[in-house]
Amino acid sequence: MYAGQPREAIDAIEFHLASVEQALATQDPAPLGYLPTVAPFLSRALYAAHQRWDTPQLTAFDGMIADESARTQLHQRLFPAGMLFSASTLETYARCPFRYFLSMVLGLTPREEPEWVLTLQPRNRGALLHDILHDFFTQLRQTGRLPLTAQEGTQLTRLLAQVAEEHFQKFARTKATGFPLLWEIEQERMHEHLALLLKRECEAAGDFLPTAFEARFGMDAVDNCAPFFPAGPVPFALDDGQEIRLHGRIDRIDLSPDQQRARILDYKTGKPIRGRFARGTALQLPLYLFAARTLRPDQTWVSAGYAYVDQRSGGGAAVFTADIWPESLAMLRQVVTALVQGICSGCFASTPDSCYPCPFPLICGTQAETRAARKQRDPRLDPLRQVRAIE
Ligand code: SF4
Repeated sequence: MYAGQPREAIDAIEFHLASVEQALATQDPAPLGYLPTVAPFLSRALYAAHQRWDTPQLTAFDGMIADESARTQLHQRLFPAGMLFSASTLETYARCPFRYFLSMVLGLTPREEPEWVLTLQPRNRGALLHDILHDFFTQLRQTGRLPLTAQEGTQLTRLLAQVAEEHFQKFARTKATGFPLLWEIEQERMHEHLALLLKRECEAAGDFLPTAFEARFGMDAVDNCAPFFPAGPVPFALDDGQEIRLHGRIDRIDLSPDQQRARILDYKTGKPIRGRFARGTALQLPLYLFAARTLRPDQTWVSAGYAYVDQRSGGGAAVFTADIWPESLAMLRQVVTALVQGICSGCFASTPDSCYPCPFPLICGTQAETRAARKQRDPRLDPLRQVRAIE
């Protein structure tokens, strides 16, 4: 802070800092008794630093909302119309409660400066690929060209490239693409990955027919003239007797030729997901399957799996199947219960072990890991720890 003695200080700030240094060195806080009156801001900052660094328990300065009235206000802010959750918000909390707090409670979003963007952002890349596949399959369905067949592979690849090109051009008109050469490389790579995905789909089409795309559920009203799911809530009972409601959007639903059996497909970009629940960070498939089974009991829901868009080997294997569903559902309830309880109890501590790609590293600072390590034994983190043990 300031290395000199208080008597050598040339202004008030230097004097306060030197006094703090001296109190730390002598372990005698008495000379700082004047601070709350003379420099209340510094006094509060010192108190916050002490609470963050020198206590073994999580405090309000680590993201714990212990005050009952603050928790009531939090509840009203987060759930003005009942406890409504999407898979991605629960996943965000499982990744890092403090990140959930910054984005969902404070409503912070990263400010994007076009001139700082060097290359395509991962989230934009994912959204682009989703939009392209949505448009492509919608066109195929509308023109009666489903199911996919290997014989039509060349024409389908051409159509997919054309749809992708239209989306790339639209994207470049409205969003930051980064350096032109990197944007060119990105487009080539996406073309290549989409073509590989299509090839895999043609080869493994089987008898299932892609039928519904971006199928929304849990909405009050449907925005589509032929929705796959009826409007209305999707209640989900927690292990502690509470009930939440779910909403979301399923990338793709395939039906068997007799329209009796259905499967869910979720497009994924980025690294393959390890494990069924991936420490609470992969809840889309099981929650989607739960919602689908609730809203469309007329179908036999056989599976839910990922289609990796930008992986050469593609995935595609079912992660959740009907035969393991009872056991999976019990595990899902356990995970969701712990996450919802964590949110409602006001526990928003940071867990800086999976920061990438979090948009808030500047808020947490470089010492987030050291601080978190000091508080890791706080029992209020036990439910989250249990979730993180579930692969
Ligand atoms: S930077 Fe890391 S610790 Fe901070 S909010 Fe993001 S994920 Fe959490």
